[in-house]
Amino acid sequence: MNIELQCCALFIMSVVLVMFLCNKKLDLVNRSLFIKAVIVCFFCLIFDILSVVAIYHSVHYDFNDTVTRIICKLYIMILVMQGYMSFNYAATSILPRVKSSRILQAVYMLIFVFGEAAVAILPIDFFMEGRVVYSKGPATGAAYILAGIYTLSTLVISLVCRKLVSLRRFLAVFLWQAIWMLAALIQFIIPGLLLIGFASAFGMVILYIQLENPSEYIDNETGAFNTDALSLCIKDRYRYDRKFAFFTAKINYITDTVDFAMERSTVMRTVKGISELGPEPVFKLSDQMFGVLYDDGDRMHDRMKLLKLRKDAVTDVPAKATYMLIPDSDMLMGPDEFFKFLHTYENEQQEITIADEELLQKMRNQNAIRDMIDQALKEDRLEVFYQPIYNAVRKGFTAAEALVRIRRKDGGYVLPGEFIPVAEENGQIIPLGKRVFEKVCAFLEEGSAQVLGIECIEINVSAAQFDYENPTKFVLEYINKYHVDPNMINIEITETAVNKNRKLLLSNMERLIDKGISFSLDDFGTGQSNLDYFVNLPVRNIKFDYKFTQSYFKNDKVKRILAGMADIMHSMDMKIISEGIETKEQLNAMLDINIEYIQGFLFSKPLPENEFIEFLKKNNRKS
Ligand code: C2E
Ligand code: MG
Ligand code: MG
Repeated sequence: MNIELQCCALFIMSVVLVMFLCNKKLDLVNRSLFIKAVIVCFFCLIFDILSVVAIYHSVHYDFNDTVTRIICKLYIMILVMQGYMSFNYAATSILPRVKSSRILQAVYMLIFVFGEAAVAILPIDFFMEGRVVYSKGPATGAAYILAGIYTLSTLVISLVCRKLVSLRRFLAVFLWQAIWMLAALIQFIIPGLLLIGFASAFGMVILYIQLENPSEYIDNETGAFNTDALSLCIKDRYRYDRKFAFFTAKINYITDTVDFAMERSTVMRTVKGISELGPEPVFKLSDQMFGVLYDDGDRMHDRMKLLKLRKDAVTDVPAKATYMLIPDSDMLMGPDEFFKFLHTYENEQQEITIADEELLQKMRNQNAIRDMIDQALKEDRLEVFYQPIYNAVRKGFTAAEALVRIRRKDGGYVLPGEFIPVAEENGQIIPLGKRVFEKVCAFLEEGSAQVLGIECIEINVSAAQFDYENPTKFVLEYINKYHVDPNMINIEITETAVNKNRKLLLSNMERLIDKGISFSLDDFGTGQSNLDYFVNLPVRNIKFDYKFTQSYFKNDKVKRILAGMADIMHSMDMKIISEGIETKEQLNAMLDINIEYIQGFLFSKPLPENEFIEFLKKNNRKS
């Protein structure tokens, strides 16, 4: 009997099945179709072998012909089913993305139903000569045609929709189907060479290795699923419209001195603890962050609370846990937004971050602003405006504050209050700050402002700029590149910058001061306004914030405080700049307490370069 190839194929399929079933599986539509295709292929081989054995026994030992025909028929019906299952598996990753996919899938299902009915009704015969055994007749012919239709369709769909799937998936599916077609063709020409079963098994092995190997999606160390698996799962859920809920737990070590062994054991304990919450898949997103996927939000909340209770009971690990909750996948717009959410809030300090409408809206706004900043940087739509600062002693405008704006495509401007906080949060403040600094330096290199009496330009540097990168480097670099006199540059820092990393800030300030750059303390009167800031910081000027100055006129206590402060600062040889002066009365009040510099709408709003020059021409006597 010519069953050696089938037996060999059956062995291969058994190995694939065992390997597949022994591994943890992801709940994916495609994966369940794969396992169905493998099972059908397995039974197809069994019936292939059974049919050969039955024919052999019918011919040689009076085995009942009708039973043999039934077995042969079952075999070819399963063969058709295998064709259909394989088509379904190969096409599902493509078809949901094609508009007319439902109609197409319905058509192929109808072909399957009617095809199977035809195979069941049509007569079947069998043949045996020497060792060569096979079934034949109209039913067998119909089965081959149907299996051929499915294989050919899979090949065509794969080719036509090539761009919708990865090259890896395309090649694996294409190879599998091409091998099957070739085997069927050979078997058609040489019916005694029963190659189809072997070709199917071979194809399944290719798919298993290339696409469905579960171990590729498992983190070796912890046994949890890895980030590739998460990406696959989330895409699958959105593609097939299967709702889900998700939560992450992140370990935040409280001390800096966590040794390797402690870190490893914490990771293992965390994965174990999360796995014990239930059968849902656990994902390792980083060494500190883990996630669990649920079918519904209530169960997720329930499990997350349990995990939190268990974590709170752990006292021997110097870490606190933070959680992100996505109770309803429908609130997010798709996989991209899902991952954006995780990425945006993974370092959130508060214990629990929930993806509710308000937070998602905030995230969307921030993302829109981030894109706007990116575009503006790329298209050079970042502009520096200059707000003249009046020197009350010299009675002219000797300084200006550089204030950034984004020019919109329609010609309007976006004010920094809208985008600076976002840039500070996501690190865009680094390229943005550099661009502003470079533009100011380029402007100073021209020299037109200096000719008109400008002695100094104030540039804002955020606290965040010290967080991400040391700004000293680019400050010195641009000053050299544009041949700017360092005395022309005054950097405005805020209390937050001082609070964050005082040591680093001080050493940077000293380096720059050595080169001739000076500093101002911005927004004085808004935050803590600790005396310590100006006592211990090498700042030349203090800028009274707009709100602080405004309350001078409204509140008697503030009036006295401000006047007292001004006295103290003057006694320390510091100069004061009052921001937000809008009226003559306010100006006079400031002059009465000997404020040296006045900045505000009374004199001018921040102006684009050319208007600023015009302003100086009009208001400053040429020196
Ligand atoms: P700031 O440094 O305190 O700048 C002063 C702000 O007060 C400016 O707002 C200015 O237009 C506004 N202002 C000036 N005079 C008056 C007035 O009389 N009345 C009123 N109502 N407002 C007045 P702007 O340009 O919107 O800037 C807001 C903040 O954005 C700045 O506050 C600064 O913290 C930040 N910023 C601006 N440019 C940059 C930059 O290049 N880098 C960094 N890191 N931050 C910047
Ligand atoms: Mg400022
Ligand atoms: Mg200010």
